[in-house]
Amino acid sequence: MSVTTAAPAAFHLMAKPTGAVCNLDCHYCFFLKKEALYPGSAFRMSDEVMERHIRETIEAHQGVPEVTIAWQGGEPTLMGLDFYRRAMEAERRYQRPGTTIQNTIQTNGALLDDEWCTFLRANKFLVGISVDGPREMHDAYRRDKGGGPTFDKAIRAVRLLQAQQVEYNILCTVNAVNSRHPLEVYRFYRDELGARYIQLIPVVERVNETGYQEGDSVTERSVRPEQYGRFLIEIFDEWVRRDVGRMFVQVFDGVLASWIRGYSSLCIFRPTCGDGVALEHNGDLYSCDHFVEPKHLLGNIRETPLLDLVTSEKQRKFGQDKQDTLPRYCRECEFLFTCHGECPKNRFLRTPDGEPGLNYLCAGLKAFFQHVDRPMKIMAGLMRRGLPASDVMQVLAAEAARFAAAAARAGRNDPCPCGARDEEGKPIKVKKCHGN
Ligand code: SF4
Ligand code: SF4
Repeated sequence: MSVTTAAPAAFHLMAKPTGAVCNLDCHYCFFLKKEALYPGSAFRMSDEVMERHIRETIEAHQGVPEVTIAWQGGEPTLMGLDFYRRAMEAERRYQRPGTTIQNTIQTNGALLDDEWCTFLRANKFLVGISVDGPREMHDAYRRDKGGGPTFDKAIRAVRLLQAQQVEYNILCTVNAVNSRHPLEVYRFYRDELGARYIQLIPVVERVNETGYQEGDSVTERSVRPEQYGRFLIEIFDEWVRRDVGRMFVQVFDGVLASWIRGYSSLCIFRPTCGDGVALEHNGDLYSCDHFVEPKHLLGNIRETPLLDLVTSEKQRKFGQDKQDTLPRYCRECEFLFTCHGECPKNRFLRTPDGEPGLNYLCAGLKAFFQHVDRPMKIMAGLMRRGLPASDVMQVLAAEAARFAAAAARAGRNDPCPCGARDEEGKPIKVKKCHGN
């Protein structure tokens, strides 16, 4: 039985109108495996479920000025444009005065054409489009059903979106291949695609979903933790020196929020979960997009009001478990305030003292947080004084010039005046740092 408690101020629902069904066959896609959840299903959301979702999502957000309706997959464009035209009619029917509705859609872009883009633009959709970097990196794992490459289709879709001025962001899955080329990936998006909004999502695929196995915990496609850290650090260093305020990298903004106001804008870096649910094609509602599995089924919106499911004791416990299962190693971590153990789906390692529940990405995340601590503090300080975060670029440039001048006066084998230390904590010499 569901227990209705106070509704969260806003919850985020990802609707999967085609369930896990997709027209591509990307090697790392965790949703394809979920097709097995609904054997024999046609994987088409009925208008009844679509309409109920829209009505109840809008009703549940009373007093919230903007409601997000998010379409995801699988590949949501497989539903066809008419489904979304009917969804827009339903939104107009239930929209309240003073409330705006923001639709988002995550797509591989294969089916996008002029008609789609006209529709997306007219209805002010925000489109997330999956591109994993330049051609050879994108095609490493993003393959079609016949095993063929998909880069050209993805880029064609980006160009169509740009031509029709549809708002879009790039979703990049960070995997074993592209993680070795952070600057190439970032510069490709910035300089060749002309993108401004980027999401970086680490691929962490477990070999054994039911338990931790020493030595073979993730597939070879998965990004290695240290590599993930280096990937973020290298992109951050380029971004913080020349692109702040011009390029928006979701993970950097999400982390900066913790330095500014003490909590992140990203669920993975918040203390608890529970505000983001996933709706399957048949009305089944799950605790999270990353936990679409029987154990985390909350119920079906055709049988139980959506708000009752979102505010149920089961969902509350799911959210609270993130905090309650944190190992001591995390609780005592200097970066707990911004990390909170990251997403529970990635917590399958043991801590150095043997406690379960350490995040697989910990080593990389910690290196990243350590590296960005100072520039984050500078940006947070600027913003608290009402100045733009982008002023950090001038601060760092002036500082670099000062250190370079001091390094020029010092001997090449002296410790660098900037105070940098290597991984073992030893001072780095001038010749390898600002004297270089
Ligand atoms: S399980 Fe992971 S993705 Fe889901 S709400 Fe929690 S942190 Fe976010
Ligand atoms: S950086 Fe590592 S130890 Fe620190 S909170 Fe995150 S996962 Fe835990």
